[in-house]
Amino acid sequence: MKLFCRHCQAVFSPEELLENCTQSWPDQHWVYFVCPECHKGMNLEVKNEFVFVGFLDGGPGSSFIYERGYTIEGLRVEREGNDLTIHYGSHTRRIPSK
Ligand SMILES: [Zn+2]
Repeated sequence: MKLFCRHCQAVFSPEELLENCTQSWPDQHWVYFVCPECHKGMNLEVKNEFVFVGFLDGGPGSSFIYERGYTIEGLRVEREGNDLTIHYGSHTRRIPSK
């Protein structure tokens, strides 16, 4: 299972994805991912066993526009306080809320 940067098409494993998420919106299960190759950001919606790649529509009341969805077996997402925590295999990443 590989994910692609929507800007430069670089390929990432789920572990790399976790490492490069910089902020979260725990209520919506959104995270902001910064590509280590092109340094551009993209928004993801993360759920148990799923990641959706897309972008936020800047219009009044932002909404998430889906571009691609991926199944990631073993991915677990939970809210911890004001943060969003993602578990994958032996990796755990707590992503602070915006
Ligand atoms: Zn990129």
